[in-house]
Amino acid sequence: MSDQPVEDGRRALRPPARRAGRPAPALSAPQKLFVVTGPSGAGKGTLIKGLLERRSDLELAVSATTRPRRPGEVEGTDYYFLSEEEFNRLVEAGQFLEYVTFLHQRSGTLFSELERIAKKGKACLLELEPTGALRVRDLVSGSVTIFVTAPIEELERRLRERATESAGEIEERLKLAREHQQLAGEFDYVVVNDDVERAVDELDGIVTKEVQTTGRLSAT
Ligand code: 5GP
Repeated sequence: MSDQPVEDGRRALRPPARRAGRPAPALSAPQKLFVVTGPSGAGKGTLIKGLLERRSDLELAVSATTRPRRPGEVEGTDYYFLSEEEFNRLVEAGQFLEYVTFLHQRSGTLFSELERIAKKGKACLLELEPTGALRVRDLVSGSVTIFVTAPIEELERRLRERATESAGEIEERLKLAREHQQLAGEFDYVVVNDDVERAVDELDGIVTKEVQTTGRLSAT
């Protein structure tokens, strides 16, 4: 990737047509792309909030989801809350970089979010569950993937404390969290959320290092 203007970068982000039987070719993002992933309950959201308070050169992409809005969540800030039909229409129209069915609900990253953030000249941050993060890792060359984890007892405690879901859903989330823990080795960095300040420091250091490596935040 070179110093492409955003317009070119936007085109570069569109998935190239696939030929039958061939793997999807890598896309190039018009800006530096960071992906924070990890099991539910690892504290990704808290660490990202801390990171964004420190870095004005980074912006979080807002995902689209079919899951119901939780109390306090704001449309367009926390998620774009869509019906199944709206979500499917965007899938059909090729508007998603990636999407996943997670515990019966679908969530995905819209290309339009990456474009919105690139236009501001900022680096883009995605918060994804691990299968979506693996997909972005494989699709977008130069993306930086960071796996946030915590001891399993801590994950369980946080998931139970959160308790916005029913008991059955919490058990499902716990099972998935244990499975996701096994994927840590697939990502560029692993950050253990043992202490929030320390972990945010580590994330901040990773972003600084990666930005210095490529020398710029946008149009890598
Ligand atoms: P929650 O329902 O708690 O907001 O999110 C559940 C999980 O879905 C979290 O691990 C979150 O990172 C992940 N997630 C949120 N948006 C997306 C998305 O657009 N794509 C993927 N693959 N995962 C997402």
